[in-house]
Amino acid sequence: MKVICTWCKLDMGEKEPLDDPKIFHGQCGRCQKEMEMEHYEMSQRSIANQIRSINFKGAVYELACFLLTLGVILVATLMISSLIPIGE
Ligand SMILES: [Zn+2]
Repeated sequence: MKVICTWCKLDMGEKEPLDDPKIFHGQCGRCQKEMEMEHYEMSQRSIANQIRSINFKGAVYELACFLLTLGVILVATLMISSLIPIGE
């Protein structure tokens, strides 16, 4: 049977049983390398994205939420303290 690369259709010769007219789909060395490279780049990219989204965007978002909450508490405290005269 013929062995053909699934990705680039490269003829990789034949394999047993030789009288079988079917086509065996494999992966040639070049495509395997490219796949590995792509996988590596993808994983690198996803790691970089995760770092960017978690450590930067996430931190900024959390900081903004924290400051907003702090501001609301501060304003509320000021409003309450101005309403209630202390040490009359
Ligand atoms: Zn190939």
